[in-house]
Amino acid sequence: MSVTEQTTYGLFINGAWDHSGEKKEVLNKYTQKPIGEVVSGNGEAVSKAVAAAKSAQQEKVSPYERYEVLMKAAAELRSRTEELAVVLAEEVGKPINESRGEVGRAALTLEVSAEEAKRIEGETVAVEAAPGSEDRRAYTKRVPVGVIAAITPFNVPLNLVCHKVGPALAAGNSVVLKPAEATPISALKLAEIFQNAGLPAGRLNVVTGRGSVLGDALLAEKDIHLFTFTGSPNVGRYLKQNAGLRDVALELGNNSATMIHHDTDVAKAAAATAQKSFNNAGQVCISVQRVYVHESIYDTFLQEMKRTTEQLNVGDPKDEATSVGPMIAETEAKRIESWVEEAKEAGAVVQTGGWRDGAVYAPTILTNVHDDMKVCREETFGPVVAVDTYQTADEAIARINDSDYGLQAGVFTNDFALIHQATEEIEVGGVIINDTPGYRVDHMPYGGVKESGTGKEGPKYAIREMTEERLIVMKPQ
Ligand code: NAD
Repeated sequence: MSVTEQTTYGLFINGAWDHSGEKKEVLNKYTQKPIGEVVSGNGEAVSKAVAAAKSAQQEKVSPYERYEVLMKAAAELRSRTEELAVVLAEEVGKPINESRGEVGRAALTLEVSAEEAKRIEGETVAVEAAPGSEDRRAYTKRVPVGVIAAITPFNVPLNLVCHKVGPALAAGNSVVLKPAEATPISALKLAEIFQNAGLPAGRLNVVTGRGSVLGDALLAEKDIHLFTFTGSPNVGRYLKQNAGLRDVALELGNNSATMIHHDTDVAKAAAATAQKSFNNAGQVCISVQRVYVHESIYDTFLQEMKRTTEQLNVGDPKDEATSVGPMIAETEAKRIESWVEEAKEAGAVVQTGGWRDGAVYAPTILTNVHDDMKVCREETFGPVVAVDTYQTADEAIARINDSDYGLQAGVFTNDFALIHQATEEIEVGGVIINDTPGYRVDHMPYGGVKESGTGKEGPKYAIREMTEERLIVMKPQ
């Protein structure tokens, strides 16, 4: 039986489905009803997966063959958009239109990875310029690191898996993937798609189960050469501290800021800000969380942002009209509720939203905030945005930088001098001009500074981390 007909999903190890072991239900995040069950893998499963991945490395797969497999997988993914979108709407609670968007982006990520498989290049090195080396010639080539452990979060469970698996396979590696506990089904379907595309057994293995158990099991495997992780700073730090001398690429959190300067088209900026504050119920690492608006346009901006926000339909993610679905769990919605209450007690004013119904938390705008409230200082990762005023550009930039994080920031202005200042002074991985920090396309370099992580995603950039530069020096006998 193909995985698409199952509601019980096995582990995917060495090209086969392994159903042995304890099972755990996966819930529809809106109805809270089970949509399937997956195996809770253990250390033994991880060892099998790593052994399969290592052994798959013995069999060479040429760059063009990798290109073909990735393109086939992308094509099947596109042809199964509706099926995968429903999985995402159910297992994440992501509105169906956004879910379709994620499937399209995931296919594109695989296509870009496929293209990159054909241009993994080295360089010539002029060793002959060194006295005594006149008869030598040298070049570098990039070789796969070998076995990669990929650990991914719940919020974008298909595309963020493709951001690990696509470049890793393009570069000739094998992968052991551990998807998030709450959202494993899309990753398992992706494994089936790769199997159908003819990926050799062992090149991609998927082990589902508890993060802490499988994380420690992966760390204990000496044949893993690189850990690539997207998720929370705490887990990222743990992996880095325990990976020894092995490389760890980390895509972590943010409390993304947007600056809205007085020369901005206020209506456009407010609409863009509302959209990027609340998609996927604010559970996006570059979701707008802090908005600094020039005092001269603050009232108009706030009015427009409220108006756009209040038009968002909240509810069942499978309803075409829904823009904001539930959070990943009721406990998360309760956490947001308590952070908003805490902010209110410290003086914040709820302009719109501020209510909870089960796992749904309403799109919420807070004003009268100060930068030390949790809703500003920590990563909210929910549908709550804090809007405040500034007087000078220097003040706004200083407040944007007053953060432990540094993934992306947005600046709305047409003032050339301010654009220069912002791109030079804001301490983040990406400065987005005239759009929110929520802008991402899948081939750009993407990654943060400070607590937002190390390393870059985007297939071309990830491939640099997923390959080693090897030097070859030749001389005549
Ligand atoms: P999380 O850190 O709780 O979980 C991420 C993954 O790590 C899951 O697969 C989980 O099972 C696993 N895990 C948990 N404990 C582990 C351990 N001890 N060892 C190894 N693995 C372990 O994160 P989440 O709640 O799934 O996702 C939300 C976080 O992800 C937010 O902080 C968000 O900003 C971040 N995120 C970052 C990016 C980015 O590109 N920078 C993208 C999406 C999400």
